[in-house]
Amino acid sequence: MRIDLHTHSNRSDGTDTPTQLVEKAVEAGLDVVAITDHDSTAGWDEAQAAADRLGITLVRGIEFSTMLDGVSVHLLGYGFDPTDVPLLTELRRILDGRDNRLPALLDKLGDHGMPLTVADVVAQSGSAAASGRPHVADAMVAAGYVADRDEAFQDWLYDNGPAFVERYGAPLPDAIRLLREAGGVSVIAHPWARKARRVLPPDVLADLADQGLAGVEVDHNNHSPEVRAELRAVAADLGLVVTGSSDYHGTGKGPDFHLGVNTTAPEQFETLFAQVPG
Ligand code: AMP
Ligand code: ZN
Ligand code: FE
Ligand code: FE
Repeated sequence: MRIDLHTHSNRSDGTDTPTQLVEKAVEAGLDVVAITDHDSTAGWDEAQAAADRLGITLVRGIEFSTMLDGVSVHLLGYGFDPTDVPLLTELRRILDGRDNRLPALLDKLGDHGMPLTVADVVAQSGSAAASGRPHVADAMVAAGYVADRDEAFQDWLYDNGPAFVERYGAPLPDAIRLLREAGGVSVIAHPWARKARRVLPPDVLADLADQGLAGVEVDHNNHSPEVRAELRAVAADLGLVVTGSSDYHGTGKGPDFHLGVNTTAPEQFETLFAQVPG
């Protein structure tokens, strides 16, 4: 059983349609693939139709943009009711915040001699529920300002970089509660990558587990072997499920993030979904 629990389609900042994503998951030899677009379930129906046609198991999920102590934390959610009103209301606020930051972000790029309009970004993000920095990067590539998304992030769009603008993220404990109250489970994505590690030490993970957090994503490309070993031990200590994933974004994130590059053990998958009622 090969299980990949975190991937993106072009309903957020991946480059494949949900159908292509599922087709490629089959080609990659996966038995189970989760679609986890940023802050949106817009890809679910199309992905489910493709999965039914091709005979692969689709897990319908999301990567929820949250904040803890001023640091961005990504929370994977699975098995929740996508029509739950409190959850949808919070997701709407995040999606609106994604789009509302664009003018200020584009002003900063303009100040650095790279003028772009909101329409230029929408030309790149047209299939997505809302814009992301990767779509701004795509517009910069289209205008010839940078060679690829990586260069755009490394020189301009990185956190607190020259063209960075904050956006809204749900307080992490609220996001865990909203997913749980909508009948789902939550797993922190790449918890010890980048700055998140600072705000997610073991004692904080223990508090979050008490508040209903079900698991942590351990096997992710942004975790070194040492980090994975340490985090796996903490998870075992706290009784948290351990997952693995590719965080595939199509061509948006580079060949290292190919489908199935990291996977989730079947018994961890079982334990996680045993916590989903119904
Ligand atoms: P946003 O949520 O719109 O502020 O943008 C953050 C997203 O950009 C993350 O979820 C990543 O998927 C993506 N990202 C971060 N760094 C890079 C990079 N160097 N190349 C491509 N995508 C990136
Ligand atoms: Zn992304
Ligand atoms: Fe993420
Ligand atoms: Fe992701």
